[in-house]
Amino acid sequence: MVVNEPVISANENQSILCPVCGCSLAFQITKGRKSGKPSLMLKCPRDGRHFRGFICDRNYLQQILERIEQAQKPANQR
Ligand SMILES: [Zn+2]
Repeated sequence: MVVNEPVISANENQSILCPVCGCSLAFQITKGRKSGKPSLMLKCPRDGRHFRGFICDRNYLQQILERIEQAQKPANQR
């Protein structure tokens, strides 16, 4: 399964561990089908049935989105 949405390494954020297997949860930006608003999905990278959660807090999302944009800038700008 190929997903075009950016996946943020959990290492860049505070690590949250899967309660089932102890993996660091993957952060993934998703957009609501109805609202079109972004939300942050936390998911176990090993098995999505382990854990899946959503953060919809706007301020927190804004921080994460900015972090993604910075991460996507070419390294030669530093
Ligand atoms: Zn897991």
